[in-house]
Amino acid sequence: MLKIEELDIKGYERVIGVRDTASGLKAFIAVHSTVLGPSLGGIRMFPFTSQKRALEDSLRLSKAMSYKAAMAGLSLGGGKAVINADPAKAKSKALFQALGDAIEYLQGAYIAAEDSGISPQDLNVVSQRTKHVTGTSASKGGSDDPSPATARGVITGMQSAAKFIWKKPSLRDKTIAIQGTGQVGTYLAQLLHKEGAHLLLSDINEARARRLARRLNGEFVSPNLIHQMDCDIYAPCALGGALNSKTIPQIRACIIAGGANNQFAEEQRDSVALMHRGILHAPDYIINAGGLIQLYVQDILQKRSINPWIKQIGVNLDTIFQKSLRLKTPPIQIANALAKALVRMKTTRGK
Ligand code: NAD
Repeated sequence: MLKIEELDIKGYERVIGVRDTASGLKAFIAVHSTVLGPSLGGIRMFPFTSQKRALEDSLRLSKAMSYKAAMAGLSLGGGKAVINADPAKAKSKALFQALGDAIEYLQGAYIAAEDSGISPQDLNVVSQRTKHVTGTSASKGGSDDPSPATARGVITGMQSAAKFIWKKPSLRDKTIAIQGTGQVGTYLAQLLHKEGAHLLLSDINEARARRLARRLNGEFVSPNLIHQMDCDIYAPCALGGALNSKTIPQIRACIIAGGANNQFAEEQRDSVALMHRGILHAPDYIINAGGLIQLYVQDILQKRSINPWIKQIGVNLDTIFQKSLRLKTPPIQIANALAKALVRMKTTRGK
């Protein structure tokens, strides 16, 4: 039986705890804000060590989604669903249908999308029980894989950073080190190759990075060296935490601009350390908004072209870099202040 518990959490419009004994579903859905529009965010499936950790993740990620959507100029708020289970073992039709019922219970305040551990096919099952789902597979009429759009946003952001540092947006003949040649990293490498950049490519899946390097006339670099290569731009496109107290002193790039989420291990400390080293950092949730933009434009607005929104990523970064220079404050902290002002927190529950 599906059990839904409303949780009272300060600073969040609505958070529910979800349990379904029949399918074993244990999940949280957090709606950070719907001030700018319905909250949209991926469903994450991960075996957390505790329910507390799963809840914390849903809160942190839903807030990040609010900031990302607001800064990308989308009429969306931030939400997130987190299933506490191992995606390799616990997936079942019943589990995703039960989650669909929980999403339906929120009556459109939360719109689900894909995140780690979830495939478009899983989303298709969720969509059997609720229409509040985006990013279903192309065969179901959805916008499908967001990675090409994310990569387009990253390259636009790199051009904005290049213009700020070198006075010209061109990436021709620049050496760019990409950490992680997964979905985003691969599309990014292909676009950069077309722009005439020289590529240094790395992945813990060495065969994959080597293959791509061969195809694009790039060089393979070992994963433990990629961040410290002599290059113009370092692009973290793997997991979070690439920028930390160990790696920051070793970075030789002038610009850091990549698609990975949560690039700082400790945002306040590490963003200041980068600034003191004179390295320009493009805030992750600004530069990697292309995938969310695609969902919004194609699945929600039902339009085709995402170009104006992708362009806006560059415009936002221009503003953030200028302000960062003027106020001697790291770009990520400037972005946070701008985003917070856009998402003027309105709670529906009198807190
Ligand atoms: P992915 O899983 O397809 O690719 C990640 C790649 O990084 C994998 O090939 C993995 O082997 C590699 N990797 C892991 N640790 C590494 C390390 N230490 N050194 C080098 N390579 C390493 O994921 P993705 O969809 O390409 O996403 C990449 C990042 O971008 C993630 O942080 C994700 O949250 C973020 N992001 C992705 C999208 C999107 O549209 N896919 C949108 C926004 C943000």
